[in-house]
Amino acid sequence: MESDEFRRLGHDLIDRIAALYDSLSERPVTPGESPSDVRGALGLDASLPEVGCAPGPLLERVTRDLIDHSLFNGHPRFFGYITAGPAPIGILGDLLASAVNPNLGSFLLSPAGTEIEAQTVRWIAELIGFPADGGLLVSGGNMANLVGLLAARAAKADWDVRAEGVDGGRRMTVYASAETHTWIQKATDLAGLGTRAIRWIGTDQNQRMDMVALRERIDADRAAGHLPLMVVGTGGSVSTGAVDPLPEIAELCRELDLWFHVDGAYGGFATASPDAPVELRGLALADSVAVDPHKWLYAPLEAGCVLVREANTLTDAFSYHPPYYHFGESALNYVDCGPQNSRGFRALKVWLALRQAGRRGYADMITEDMALSRALTRACQAHAELASYTQGLSISTFRYVPVDLAARVGEPAVEEYLDDLNRAVQAELERGGRAFVSNAVIDGRYVLRACIVNFRTTRSDVEALPNIVASTGRSIDAAMRMERPS
Ligand SMILES: *Cc1c(COP(=O)(O)O)cnc(C)c1O
Repeated sequence: MESDEFRRLGHDLIDRIAALYDSLSERPVTPGESPSDVRGALGLDASLPEVGCAPGPLLERVTRDLIDHSLFNGHPRFFGYITAGPAPIGILGDLLASAVNPNLGSFLLSPAGTEIEAQTVRWIAELIGFPADGGLLVSGGNMANLVGLLAARAAKADWDVRAEGVDGGRRMTVYASAETHTWIQKATDLAGLGTRAIRWIGTDQNQRMDMVALRERIDADRAAGHLPLMVVGTGGSVSTGAVDPLPEIAELCRELDLWFHVDGAYGGFATASPDAPVELRGLALADSVAVDPHKWLYAPLEAGCVLVREANTLTDAFSYHPPYYHFGESALNYVDCGPQNSRGFRALKVWLALRQAGRRGYADMITEDMALSRALTRACQAHAELASYTQGLSISTFRYVPVDLAARVGEPAVEEYLDDLNRAVQAELERGGRAFVSNAVIDGRYVLRACIVNFRTTRSDVEALPNIVASTGRSIDAAMRMERPS
C-alpha cells in the first residue's frame, strides 16, 4: 500500500469510527442475529480468496459490516457481564502501537515501549494502592491470575517444581471461595495441579469467603501431608461484586505461610474511589494482584495486569536464558517476567488513558458507575414487578416477578416458573437490542444482573432499564401462561 492511499484510507476509517460513536446511543445494543445470519451477511462461508482486492472498498465494506452486525459493549445500555467500552484515546493508542510495532519481549527491541509499560505497571499499582515491585501486562484477568498462581507455585514449592513438575513433591492445594471466577479451574489445570487441587470454600449470606471454613480446610490438608500453596481473595466477584474479607485472609496467609493472591480483575480499580468497600483496600497486603484495565480502565480489549510484591517472584517463575538471546541483565526484559515471548505494546493504550484522565478522572468515572448501580437498584426496588436482590460495586441483581405471583415466591413450582421466565426475559433482551443484561444465580434463584463499567451510561439509561425489563417480562409471562396454563 502506497503512502498516499494509506493516508486517505486512514482518514476515512477514523471518520467512520467517529460517526459510529456519535450515533451509538441511537443504535441497537446488538443486532441479536444467529451465527448463520452473521455468516450469510458477511459472506463468511467463502473459502480463502485466490486473488486479492483493492484495500479501499474492502475497508469500507468491512467497516460497514462490522458496525451493522456487532454488539457494542460501549453502548450506554449494555449492562451485561463485565465488558467495558473502549476509551477513544485507547482506540488511537492501539493504532499508534501497531504502527511503531515494538516487541516488548526485551528492552533492546522496545526501548521506549518497555519503559512505558514499566511506568504503566507502577501507575496501576499506585492507583489501587498496592506496593508493587514488579508486574506486567497480559491479555486479561485469566492470564493475570494464572501468572499469580505460577509465581506462587515457584515460590512456595519446597522442591524445584519448574524442573521436576508437580509430581516432584507433595500435593499442592489452593483455596478460593465458591464465588471465585472460573479462571481458577483453567489455571490449576494449566499449572499441572489439576482442578482437584481447588478447595472451594463456602460463603456467607453476602457471598464472602467463610474464614472458619478456610482455616479448617487448610489445617486438614496440612494434616493429610499436602502443601497448601495459596489463598485467592476475590476483590469484586463476577456475579454480585462481593468482596472477600481481604485483611483477614492476609493475616491468615501470613500466619500459615501461604501465598495471598487477590483477584481484582473487576473490582481492583474501585479502590481509586472513596466509595469503595473498606475491605477492598486489603488487596494492599497481597503477594500478587490481578486487575483488568480492559474493564474499569476502559482500555480496548485486551489488557490485563498482574502485580507482585517482589519482582524476583516473576523471574523466579518464568526466566530462562537460551544461548540465542542476548538481551543483557541490566535492562528490564519482559520475556523473563511472564509466559509470553514476543509481546505487543498493549501498555500504550492504558498509559495514554491514565495520562489523559489522571487519578481523579478515573476516581470520578468509577464512583459514577457505582452510584448509577445504586440508583438502578433503588429503581428496581420501587418497581412493583421487579424484586431486587444484591448491589455490590457496580453490579445490581433483580428479577421479574408477575404481580399475582409475588405472594407465592418460595413455592417450588413458582420458583421454577420464575427461573424459566427470567431466563426467557434475558434471552429476549439479548435478541431485542434495547438493553443487554446477563444473569447470576443467587441462593439457587436465576436472577438478572446489570453491571456498569461504562463512561457513557447515564441516569436516564439506568432509569429506563426497569421498564424495559418489566414490559419484556409482562409479554413473555402472558405467552408462557398460554403455553402452560397450570
Ligand atoms: C473478568 C474477570 C476475570 C477474567 O478476566 P478476563 O479478562 O475475562 O480474562 C477473572 N476474575 C474476575 C473477578 C473477573 O471479573
